[in-house]
Amino acid sequence: MQSISPETIYRGNYAWEESLPQITKLTKSPLILGRGIHTKNLRNNISIDLKNQTLNANSADLQFDCCYEDISRVKNIISDNNNDSIIAAGGGKVLDSGKYIAESLNIPCITVPLSASTCAGWTALSNVYTKDGQFIKDVALRSCPKILVYDHKFIQTAPSRTLASGIADALAKWYESSITSSTIDDGLVQQAIQISRVLRDQLLIDGEKAFKGGFENNPSWRNTIEACGLTAGLVGGIGGEKCRTAAAHAIHNAITQIITPNKFLHGEIVGVGLLLQLRLEEMKNNNKLADQSIKQLLVLMKELNLPTTIGQLGINVFENNNLEKIADFTCRDKSEIHFLPFEIHKRDILEVIANFEKQKIKI
Ligand SMILES: [Zn+2]
Repeated sequence: MQSISPETIYRGNYAWEESLPQITKLTKSPLILGRGIHTKNLRNNISIDLKNQTLNANSADLQFDCCYEDISRVKNIISDNNNDSIIAAGGGKVLDSGKYIAESLNIPCITVPLSASTCAGWTALSNVYTKDGQFIKDVALRSCPKILVYDHKFIQTAPSRTLASGIADALAKWYESSITSSTIDDGLVQQAIQISRVLRDQLLIDGEKAFKGGFENNPSWRNTIEACGLTAGLVGGIGGEKCRTAAAHAIHNAITQIITPNKFLHGEIVGVGLLLQLRLEEMKNNNKLADQSIKQLLVLMKELNLPTTIGQLGINVFENNNLEKIADFTCRDKSEIHFLPFEIHKRDILEVIANFEKQKIKI
């Protein structure tokens, strides 16, 4: 069973207004799920719009991440209020929680991404974390969301940092899927890999212009947010579980195990993981082009103000046994690192990260 895309997608300016008639048909009593004060006004407006459609809408906020504590609390709110759908409006953690809860209660989920930081509005997947933000596992869901509303006016209100993070996460699709899945004899998987290559090329062309140019009359901005929020999800939908994530996400998952005072966004950590993956490919797979790819990515990442070392994510790997902890989690049995077509041992991770963090990264 493969769920390729949401049943209906609304995209562009005023996509939200356009989607209201269909939402009104689908649900009478939605729960609006969100998080954080930054999006509070926007979610209030969403609530007012729904009430104007005579829907009986109420709201709940996540306190932490997409974690079991929040999931069970929100489930209780839904049964107390008899909600018949979830409208998840926010970033990846909110969208993942909404999808997860909706599926476990057998009610439809409507995703309304409020930034371009993620393709979680599209996918049939939820990443579950502890309440401190440590990755636990990803959960494959039965289906993609019922409706995805990708309203550019909403995305415009997000901090530019979320766009940079979304670009790094979407770029990783090519580097991860091409190395794990290029030998799979399945036409759809091969097509998904090629879409992720075009996606990468477009982000290399448009990413910086989107980040620096603002959203007014800027086709690069429009193309980039749709690449991050829609196309990246499509690659996962067509490629399915065979179009795997690899080292970049495995290293991301390991880095989240170290609790830091300042939280970093998913794509910001994946970007660092991606540079490390390329170093591993160079070291273990004799990939002669890896160094060139790293240089190319570093140029863009610096322009996007993205972190390029684990140190810049607020973690000194040479303290508190952090390097060991990251290497252990990266190499655990269930880790995606083992989807790489060459064997990875803990000592490889220790070596590659230690060298990476010691070097002064120059372009
Ligand atoms: Zn990701």
